[in-house]
Amino acid sequence: MNIDHSDNTPLDAAQPALASTQAVALTPVLAEASTPEPVQEQTGLSFAQLGLNTELQSSAAQAGFTAPTPVQVEAIGHVLNGRDVLATAQTGSGKTAAYVLPVLQLLMATATSRDEAPKKRITQVLVLVPTRELATQVSDVLRDLARPLTQSIKVGTVFGGVSINPQMMSLRSGADVVVATPGRLLDIVDHNALNLGQVQHLVLDEADRLLDLGFAEELHRILALLPAKRQNLLFSATFEPAVQTLAEALLHNPERITIAQTQEHTPDIAQRAISVDEKSRTALLRHLIKTHAWKRVLVFVATRYACEHVANKLYKAGVFATAFHGEMSQGARQDVLAEFKEDRWEVVVTTDLAARGIDIAQLPVVVNYDLPRSATDYTHRIGRTGRAGASGEAVSFVTAATLAHWQLIQKRQKIQLPVEVLEGFEPTEVPPPMSPLNDGTGGIKGKRPSKKDKLRAAAAATKAERPEPPSE
Ligand code: AMP
Repeated sequence: MNIDHSDNTPLDAAQPALASTQAVALTPVLAEASTPEPVQEQTGLSFAQLGLNTELQSSAAQAGFTAPTPVQVEAIGHVLNGRDVLATAQTGSGKTAAYVLPVLQLLMATATSRDEAPKKRITQVLVLVPTRELATQVSDVLRDLARPLTQSIKVGTVFGGVSINPQMMSLRSGADVVVATPGRLLDIVDHNALNLGQVQHLVLDEADRLLDLGFAEELHRILALLPAKRQNLLFSATFEPAVQTLAEALLHNPERITIAQTQEHTPDIAQRAISVDEKSRTALLRHLIKTHAWKRVLVFVATRYACEHVANKLYKAGVFATAFHGEMSQGARQDVLAEFKEDRWEVVVTTDLAARGIDIAQLPVVVNYDLPRSATDYTHRIGRTGRAGASGEAVSFVTAATLAHWQLIQKRQKIQLPVEVLEGFEPTEVPPPMSPLNDGTGGIKGKRPSKKDKLRAAAAATKAERPEPPSE
C-alpha cells in the first residue's frame, strides 16, 4: 500500500462545495498566477471550459495534459455535476484522468488544508480495478494530479499478491481515495482495517475485465458495504451483456458516453506480418531488433514457459531481454516494468494476461512472436503501442501452422496485410494436415467446434480405441 503523505500549504477557502460546469468562475485565486494558458487542441476545448478549477488545470498541465481528450470532454462536466456515468472508452483514450480530475475537484470541497490534516481520514472515493498493474497506474495518476493541490488528499492502494500487513498498517490513518483490486479489498475490510460506509464516489475502471477475471461475486459483496446514496462511474472498453447487467444494477439514470475509435483517434500503428519458420522466429526477432535499431520492444508469446525460454535465448544472444509473467512476484514485475521504462531492458517478453493494463507511454514496437488466440487479444496487444498520440509498429510472425489462424484474425479485424518474406528467413515448413477439429481456425476464441465436428471427432476416437479385429 502506498500512501501519499501531504505537505503543508494553506487551503483556499473559496473552493466550491460541488463544482458545476460554471465552477471555473469560483476558482481559487492562489493558483492563478502559476496556471498556464490552456492549450486548445484536438477537441477545441480547454479544461477550464469543462469546469475544472485553476488548481486542477495547473495539475493537468504539469502532468503534460495540454488539452482534454474526447472522453475527458464528455465525462468531466457530468462527473462534476454529480451524475452517474457509463463510459465506453478504451485504455489509451485518457479515461483515467477523465474521472480522476473531476473526482479530485469534488474531493477538494471537503478536503482539509495540508497543515490541518486529520488524524483519521474518511474514504470518500473507491476505485475498483481488475489488476495490480492498473491499481498502481491509477494511483500514480491520482497522486501526480493531487500533489500540486493546496489541499491534502491521501491515496491508498491495495492489491493482492503481496503481504497484507503493510497495506493494513498504512491504512491506519485512513485514505481519502482507495484504489483496489476486489479480492484484497474484501480481505482488508474483513480485518477491520478499512471502512467503506462513507464512500461518496465509486469508480469501476475496466469493468469488462473485472467481470472477465471473475470478480462478479466480490463486486456484489463490496457494493453491499457502500452507502446506497453515492455517485457511480463505470468505465469499460466493451459493453458486452455482463457489463450491461452490472451497469443496470449499479447506475442511476447515467450519462452514456461512447468514445468510438474513429479514424481521427485511432492510434497510429503500422501493422506488419512476416512469414517465418517456427524454429527461426528468435533469429528473425534478433535480426529485426538489429536492423531497425529497436530499443524498446514488447514481445508476446503464448505461455509463461515461452516467456522465459525466448527471453533467455535473446539474452544469451546479446539482447537485453527479460520475461514478465504472472508467476513472477509482484515486486519482480514492478521492477521489470520500471527498468523497461528506464531503458535498462531492450526487450520484455510477456503473455496476454501479464500484459493487461501495462501503460508505457513510449513503446514503439510490439511483436507477436506467437499469434494471439483471438482478434480481441490482437487489438489489446497492438494497443500497447501507439499510445498517447505516439506512433507505433506491430509485427506479427506467421508460421505455416498459424497461417489459417492469422487469416481469421485479419478477417475479424477487417485488415488484409501482405505477408512479407524476408531475405535469409524464407519459410520452408508446410502447414500441418487438417483434422476435423483443426479446421484452420487455430482454436480461435469464440469459434467452437460444431456438433457435427464433435460427433466426427468422437467417432474417430472410438475407432482409434477399438481393438483391431482378429486377422482371418
Ligand atoms: P489512459 O487511457 O487513462 O490509460 O491514458 C493513456 C495515456 O494518455 C496515459 O499515458 C496518460 O498519461 C495520457 N493522457 C491522459 N490524458 C491526456 C491529455 N489530456 N493529454 C495528453 N495525454 C493524456
